[in-house]
Amino acid sequence: MSELRTGGCLCGAVRFSARVEAGLQACHCRQCQQWTGGGPLFVAHVAEMQITQGEDALHSYHASHWGERITCATCGSTLWWKMQGKPTRGVAAGLLDDQAGLTVTEEIFVDYRPDWLPAFEGATQSTEAQEEAKLRAYLEREST
Ligand SMILES: [Zn+2]
Ligand SMILES: [Zn+2]
Repeated sequence: MSELRTGGCLCGAVRFSARVEAGLQACHCRQCQQWTGGGPLFVAHVAEMQITQGEDALHSYHASHWGERITCATCGSTLWWKMQGKPTRGVAAGLLDDQAGLTVTEEIFVDYRPDWLPAFEGATQSTEAQEEAKLRAYLEREST
């Protein structure tokens, strides 16, 4: 079940609307911890996303050879992670104006979840090794 929701960054320069899935993914990887300043990165999966304002305010950082981390160039808000050259499939949940009805259904890179953060009850758990296997399979599919 997806719902049309709107969101934006702290300063208001970047605004978007998208169909958003109710189940969030929490990424505990070291990059997301550092990028968000706390972590995990809570990702709301999106489809039919439209940037309604501030396309020119987007700043892209390549922390890996495949991924791209997008922030607002003015306020520094964490916006979304995406595969390089691919459409945006998820946004940081905290950007959404209305977060009602969202729940964490998936946790990834759980080997990096800090001791002070408990697991989300009922969420699937996936390790770094499992995520890297998925990524390798994806990159292989893409390169053929
Ligand atoms: Zn901003
Ligand atoms: Zn991550």
